[in-house]
Amino acid sequence: MAVPIMQAVRVGAYVVKQHVTRRKRYPLVLMLEPLFRCNLACAGCGKIDYPAQILNQRMTLQECLDADTEAGAPVIAVAGGEPLLHKEMPDIIRGLIARKKYVYLCTNALLLEKKMDDYEPNPFFSWDVHLDGDPAMHDASVCQDGVYERAVAAIKKAKARGFRVSINCTLFDGADPKRVAAFFDEVMAMGVDGIMTAPGYAYERAPDQEHFLNRHKTKQLFRDIFRLGKGKKWRFTQSPLFLNFLAGNEQYHCTPWGKPLRNVFGWQRPCYLLGEGYAKSFEELMADTDWDAYGTGNYEKCADCMVHSGYESTAVMDAVRRPWHIAKVALFGPETEKPMAPEISLANQRPAEYVFTQHVDAKMAELAARKKPAAPPRVNKVAAPAETADAAD
Ligand code: SF4
Repeated sequence: MAVPIMQAVRVGAYVVKQHVTRRKRYPLVLMLEPLFRCNLACAGCGKIDYPAQILNQRMTLQECLDADTEAGAPVIAVAGGEPLLHKEMPDIIRGLIARKKYVYLCTNALLLEKKMDDYEPNPFFSWDVHLDGDPAMHDASVCQDGVYERAVAAIKKAKARGFRVSINCTLFDGADPKRVAAFFDEVMAMGVDGIMTAPGYAYERAPDQEHFLNRHKTKQLFRDIFRLGKGKKWRFTQSPLFLNFLAGNEQYHCTPWGKPLRNVFGWQRPCYLLGEGYAKSFEELMADTDWDAYGTGNYEKCADCMVHSGYESTAVMDAVRRPWHIAKVALFGPETEKPMAPEISLANQRPAEYVFTQHVDAKMAELAARKKPAAPPRVNKVAAPAETADAAD
C-alpha cells in the first residue's frame, strides 16, 4: 500500500467527521510554500518568475506552524521553490510531525544526499521526489543533464536509511505511454513507496507554453498508461478515483479549497496553481473567495486543468459518497476501454484575468515600505511651557 494504513485510517476519519458535522468546505491537504527560490529552472514551472527580493523571502518556522494551526488539515505538502534551500526546514518538518501531521517534503533531490542527516525517518514523514520520467524525460523536463541520476541516487540512499519516499511525476504533451509505464516499473523496482502523478498545469509564467496537455490528450495518455499497467503492482499515493478521473471516467468539478496554499504572499486564491489574489488568514480565504468563479467550465485558466490540487479532494469526497465505487476501481484499476465520461462545457467560462504583475508590484511595495528607515522623532513647532523649561535646564 502506497499510504500507510494508519495514515489512511486517520485521514479517512477526518473526512468522515467533516461530512458528519456537515462542514461545507474543508481542507484535506495544506500546501505550504515557505519560499519560491529554487536551484532549478524547469521548462514547465512558472514558480520562480519573481524579482530577487521576492525570491529571497522565507516563511518562518512560526508562520508555517501558524498556517497549520489555521487550516487544521491532516496532511501537509511542503513545496516551493526548493524547500531544502530553506535553513529552518528541518525545524519546520520536526514541528509539523510533532503535531502528528502527515508531511510530504517535495524536493528535486539535488540537495537531498547532503541534507538527509538533518531529518529522521518517521511514519508521519515522506520525501516526495520530483521525477518526471526516465533519464531523458526528466532531464529535459528540468532543463539540466544529470538530475535524474542524482535524484535516483538520493532516493536509493533515503530508502536504505529507512525513510518513506514517493515520487512526483508530472507529464506533458508528447509523453510516450510505453516509456512512462517502463518508468513506473523502474521506480517500483527501486522500492519507492508510491507514485504521485498528474498532467502539468499550464502556468502562464512557464517558459515552455507548447507542451501542456489539453483535457482530451490527458485522458487518452493516462488511459494508455493504465492499460499497460493492468496486472502490475504500481502503487499510487493518490485516490483510485482520482486516477479514474485522469483516465476520463469521472466528470468531476474542481474543489480548490481541498488543498489550500499558504506562501510568502499569504493564503493564495483560489488554489496551488493559480495566484488570483491573497487572503491574510485561512478564515478570510475560505469565507471571502468566490469559489464558484473557478474550476473547469467557470474560468478560462481552468479549462484544461486536471491536477490533484483541484480534483483529488473531489475524488476523496466522492469515495465517501460512493464507497462501493472506489472499492471497484481500487480492485480492478481505472477503466480503459469504455466510452469516456462527458466533458464539462466551456461555453460559459469567464475570460482569463492577468493579475501576476499587480500582485508582484504590491509585494514589492510592501517590502520597500518595510525597508524604509524609521522616521526621526517628531519635534513640536510650539513647545508647551513645561517642555520649554525642561529644555532650558
Ligand atoms: S481547475 Fe481548480 S485546481 Fe485547476 S487551476 Fe482552476 S481552480 Fe485551480
